[in-house]
Amino acid sequence: MGTKRARQLAGLLNLPVLPKSGPLLDASVTGPLDGYPIAVAWNQRQRQSTVTFLVRFKKGSLKVPPAELRERILSSPEILRAMDRTSISGSEKKALTVASDGILVYWDYAFRAPAPEAAASVLRILVTLIKDAATPVGSDCEVCGSAGAGELGMVGRALTSICAGCRERMATTGS
Ligand SMILES: [Zn+2]
Repeated sequence: MGTKRARQLAGLLNLPVLPKSGPLLDASVTGPLDGYPIAVAWNQRQRQSTVTFLVRFKKGSLKVPPAELRERILSSPEILRAMDRTSISGSEKKALTVASDGILVYWDYAFRAPAPEAAASVLRILVTLIKDAATPVGSDCEVCGSAGAGELGMVGRALTSICAGCRERMATTGS
């Protein structure tokens, strides 16, 4: 069921669905959105049904304190409208993470799973909020820094823009 919704969202965003090897350990819509690598999956966290949103930005490029970006997301009227909610639950607030290279947001639900269209709206608003606060990853390699050579892929469990040379080097060193 989560896979079907992920496929529909992938269609809306024109991005592929990665199978379980993706960054969210479930079938996830994965790709760049305006230069920001994203992943979205309908999955579970601590037995709670949820839609997980990962939005990556350039490591260390956050121009505002993490707490401020967190607050901007939690108090965004556009996000509440897209979720058709009046507030964000305490457990969702607690689970929202702002790291040095991206954010992780959960949209918990009980019975009716959020529609792909609504998830697309929430994702677009998250990317818009991040645009004001951090630099896109774009197509630079995040490992060696070479410009324009990166392609989005997995490095360990991390969604990373990486060039062919670095990918090869990592494959041969087995890391
Ligand atoms: Zn590289």
